[in-house]
Amino acid sequence: MDESALHIVMVGHVDHGKSTVIGRLLYSTGALPAGTIDKVKRIAKETGKPFEYAYLLDAFEEEQKQGITIDTTRLQFKTDKRDYIIIDAPGHQEFLKNMISGASNAEAAFLIVDAARGVEEQTKRHAYILKLLGIRQIYVLINKMDLVDYQEAQFNKVQQHVQDFLQTLGLTAVSYLPLSAYYGENLLENSPKMPWYTGKSFIETLDSAKAHKTSEQRPLRLPIQDVFKFDDQRIIAGRIEAGTLNVGDDITIYPSGRQTKVTGFAQWPQDEHLQSHQAGESVGLLLEDEFFNQRGEIITKTAENSQPVVDTVIQTNLFWMGEQPLVPGKTYKLKIATQQVTARVLKILKVTDAGDLKARQNNDQVRLNDVAEVVFQTEQPLVYDFFNDQHVTGRFVLVDGYDVTGGGTITERYQGERELE
Ligand code: GDP
Repeated sequence: MDESALHIVMVGHVDHGKSTVIGRLLYSTGALPAGTIDKVKRIAKETGKPFEYAYLLDAFEEEQKQGITIDTTRLQFKTDKRDYIIIDAPGHQEFLKNMISGASNAEAAFLIVDAARGVEEQTKRHAYILKLLGIRQIYVLINKMDLVDYQEAQFNKVQQHVQDFLQTLGLTAVSYLPLSAYYGENLLENSPKMPWYTGKSFIETLDSAKAHKTSEQRPLRLPIQDVFKFDDQRIIAGRIEAGTLNVGDDITIYPSGRQTKVTGFAQWPQDEHLQSHQAGESVGLLLEDEFFNQRGEIITKTAENSQPVVDTVIQTNLFWMGEQPLVPGKTYKLKIATQQVTARVLKILKVTDAGDLKARQNNDQVRLNDVAEVVFQTEQPLVYDFFNDQHVTGRFVLVDGYDVTGGGTITERYQGERELE
C-alpha cells in the first residue's frame, strides 16, 4: 500500500450517483483490470439491462474480494499527479461503519448531490459525519447535470441549498462542481456542454486537494500493540501514529506515567539498525527499564509539551449505528488506538437527529442514526487526546458484542457530575 497516496471518501444520498462516479473514475484512469468493462457490458446485454458504470465498481470489488491480500474497502487509482485510495464499502451501513471506525484517515471528501433532486436526508447525515470525523476538505459534486439540461440556474440553486445546510453545520465546501458522471462531462476536462462553468474538472479538482500535514510533525504517540520476549530481550511493538522517535529519547508510558529511555530498535529484516523512526512506521522498541507493559498503553516523548489526558470519564461526540438505542447505564467496549476498555454510559448531554439536524427534546436515549454528546465512565483509566491535536488517539469506536455500533471523536474534557443520574 502506498503510504503517500491521498485517501478520499465519496459520500451522498443513495442513487445520487456515488457508484457511477467511482466506476467512471476507475475506468477513465485505467485502474480497472483488463476485460472488466467488456465483461460488464456483456452481462448487461445478456440480462437486457442498459450498461451502468456502477456495475464496474461491483465487478471490481468482487474481483478484489477474491484476492486475499487486498482490503476490499480500498480502491486504488492514479492520475498523472499522484496515487489515490478511495475508501468505500458496498452497503450504506457498512460504509458508515467504515468511515467511523477510521480504518481510514480520509484527507478529502466528495459529497455527491443529484442535480435534479438536490439535498436529501442522507446528504445531511453524511455531511454531519464528515464534520464529526473532522474531515474539513469537502468538495461538492452536483451530479446528473444531463438530467437538468446542463442548466446553470439549476446548478446555482442546488449549490445554494447545499451551501446553506453545510453552513448550519459550520462547514464550508472548497468548491462546487457540475458533473455528469454517466456521460463523463467535466470529468477529465471541462465539458463544452457547460461553457458557463470555468472552474476545475473533476480530475483537476482531485489533483488540487491537499494532503494532510504529515503527522510526523506532531508530538509522539506510539500505541503499544504487543510485547514480545526473545531470549533475554523484551521488545515493545507498535506503530508510530504521530511524531518521531530516536534511540536515546526519554519516553513516558501512559496510563501509568512511568518514564524510561529508548535504548534501541529491534532490527527487522529490512532495516539496518536505524536510529530514528517516524509516523507511519511500525517499530520494535528496546527500553532501559522493564516495567510491566501491555497492549493499549501509549508511549510519548517526555520532553514534548503536549501529553495525553488520562481519565476514567470521557466526553464524546458520537454517531450511533446500533439497532438497540444507547441508554444510560449500559456498557460497551470502547476502543481508542490499541486500547480497549469497558465503558458505561454515564450521561447523554445532547441528541441530534442527523436526518433533519434538529436537537431532540428528550435525552433519555440515542437512537439509530442519531448524533449525540455522550459521557462514558470507563473501568480502567483511558488515555486520549483531543481530536484536533491528535487524530488516532482522539477518535474512538464503540463495540456491542461483535458489532461496531458507534464511534466519533473527543473534542473537550468533561467538567460535570461524575455520578450516574
Ligand atoms: P449510488 O446509490 O449513489 O451509488 O448511485 P448509482 O451510481 O448506483 O446511480 C444510481 C442511478 O443513477 C443509476 O441508474 C445511474 O446510472 C444513474 N446515474 C448516475 N450518474 C448519472 C448521471 O450523471 N446522469 C444520469 N442521467 N444518471 C446517472
